[in-house]
Amino acid sequence: MVFTLVASNEISYHKLNKNFQQLKGCFNTNSLICTDTISVTPFIPNQQLNDQERFLSTIARKLPIIPQPGTFEYILLRAYGAAFVNPDTEIKLPQKDIFANEQETQEFQDTLIMGQVDGTKDCYLQKSAADALNKARSSYRGASLTLQNIPLKSGYGSGDCTRSFATNLRFWHKYANNQILARVQQGKETKILGLVAPPGTSQHLWGLAIDLRASNQRQKQALNQNGWFQTVENDIPHWTYIGLREENLSQFGFKNQVVRGITYWVTPL
Ligand SMILES: [Zn+2]
Repeated sequence: MVFTLVASNEISYHKLNKNFQQLKGCFNTNSLICTDTISVTPFIPNQQLNDQERFLSTIARKLPIIPQPGTFEYILLRAYGAAFVNPDTEIKLPQKDIFANEQETQEFQDTLIMGQVDGTKDCYLQKSAADALNKARSSYRGASLTLQNIPLKSGYGSGDCTRSFATNLRFWHKYANNQILARVQQGKETKILGLVAPPGTSQHLWGLAIDLRASNQRQKQALNQNGWFQTVENDIPHWTYIGLREENLSQFGFKNQVVRGITYWVTPL
């Protein structure tokens, strides 16, 4: 089947990307056939490179300017940059990892194709992310004898899903202030990033994050199997859509970090 895809010029890159889920399975086998398909399938970084180089060479495809180490943008990339690895061509990411204001945020969000999270009134994510989440939640519901769902953190609210700049700012001021922001910008304070995102920097602005109450292992498994992972250390309810299988994450440089029994997949920066 793989050869059929490669041989036909009529198969578009987009279509191949749609088949990425199927093709990805063969990347681990290192067989010749699978190696041949890599050139026409979504990017897999050179495995000779170190973690950081593999991560950066992957996200360079979505982020036109990689910030310099030590800058605020680099600190943000370390904390929230996991989403830039997403291989799905229908997933959009901003041109930089900080929005200056509501207008910039809105202009980016206006370009997104959104989908609704099932069973909610106003919880929206980028469509591929919403589709994957709906699949995860329904597979868990199907498997759980009590027909329970994976609940949103607040129960149903849009604040758990895609947020406006104003909501991001409001959350920031709930937990932090301008003095803390200055310390984060100088690299002197990082812990706060696991509690709340500085103004204009949340993954929730990108439509690729959701806050959930996924406490048991089967809920987490259903999310992981559909490309959703905990990527921000200490932010337990926060899930990021990466769109990859767990067994492939380290190929892209992700590091597995277990903190107080919770497995996070963090950037290698
Ligand atoms: Zn969150």
